Amino acid sequence: MSLDFGPAVALSCRECGARYPLGPSFACVECFGPLEAAYEFGHVTREQIESGPASIWRYRSLLPVPADVATKPNMNPGWTRLVKAGNLGRALGFKSLHVKDDSGNPTHSFKDRVVAMAVEAARNFGFHTLSCSSTGNLAGAVTAAAARAGLEACVFIPADLEQAKIAMARVFGGRLIGIDGTYDEVNRFCSELIGDPLGDKWGFVNVNLRPYYAEGSKTLAYEIAEQLGWRLPEQIVIPIASGSQLTKIDKGFKELVALGLVEDTPYKIFGAQAAGCSPVSTAFKAGHEVVQPVKPDTIAKSLAIGNPADGPYVLDIARRTGGAVEDVTDAEIVEAIRLLASTEGVFAETAGGVTVGVLKKLAESGRLDPEAETVVLNTGDGLKTLDVIAADAAPTAVIRPSLDAFRATV
Ligand SMILES: *Cc1c(COP(=O)(O)O)cnc(C)c1O
Repeated sequence: MSLDFGPAVALSCRECGARYPLGPSFACVECFGPLEAAYEFGHVTREQIESGPASIWRYRSLLPVPADVATKPNMNPGWTRLVKAGNLGRALGFKSLHVKDDSGNPTHSFKDRVVAMAVEAARNFGFHTLSCSSTGNLAGAVTAAAARAGLEACVFIPADLEQAKIAMARVFGGRLIGIDGTYDEVNRFCSELIGDPLGDKWGFVNVNLRPYYAEGSKTLAYEIAEQLGWRLPEQIVIPIASGSQLTKIDKGFKELVALGLVEDTPYKIFGAQAAGCSPVSTAFKAGHEVVQPVKPDTIAKSLAIGNPADGPYVLDIARRTGGAVEDVTDAEIVEAIRLLASTEGVFAETAGGVTVGVLKKLAESGRLDPEAETVVLNTGDGLKTLDVIAADAAPTAVIRPSLDAFRATV
């Protein structure tokens, strides 16, 4: 079997730096640290990237994928809009604010970016089934991508997810197994399944394919920099579930600097959690280097990971860049969803309520600089979490079809 991962040449341990050949492995046998893709990049120019497709594949020379990736059946996610958020900026006192709106991806969340990497890895390793443990959005992204790629799908979710996310995952076919337990229990179950003959030739996108999968989040960093005119933002607010997305956006910014694609300007990374699942924020505030697991209880189900694998790395990055990690209550999340929608016409799912809520909280407490160029991420679509604004699921008034009746409403 000949592998083609483009510029990726090895896996390396994030803890001890031990290197391994590219394979479906995810933990270092020396120290049990997590493995990640290591590269030998060629000469990459802005012009090459700009002449590429309007999807994440414009950055294929920076990702663990073959050069002809765009010709294969996949979801072609990415190149989502960067919205100049003048109204929200004025409401919160920012001079320059942008919303990176990832609700525009094919299955309406940022997860399409990471799954696209996992599909290429699954093809490389000759796997026939694509699988995952999911807090909701990943399930739909996996079943959709598997349908297009001609792979089987079998995905595992906590049984109590939002209806829209369950229906969305099922419509693409494959098997959807609800597990009576938290996401962390679903995840543990999947780790067991990998070692069992039942899971033979299965690619678990966020377990044994995680070193490839996680690299997809770098494309958020690349797109934001390119859409700002090849500049790094000065401040960015990112949601935290496992913390993978946040760590890879940092990696993406560093690669752009190392390759000379942007100037080396300072940036601060801010992490956002829901108060009902805030193990990283709690550790940040307490000055701890380790993260104590919690049992999640929040409406932001897509971020409800109580034992976040990348928690310690997130703490490092927030501290190193001069950022912070903050959390907001469920009520603040709903208020933030309404604020973003009514100022910018962007309808975010609860994860976007978390980032915008944290943006507001950090601005009000003076920890975000209102003069600095700031980007806030919306990683999912509000139609997936309609239940949290159920109070709005009615007209502002119901009248007879007459001018008099309408006049009486104002
Ligand atoms: C999965 C997810 C995230 C971030 O997940 P990480 O595990 O931290 O990479 C953010 N927003 C939404 C909507 C998600 O589904």
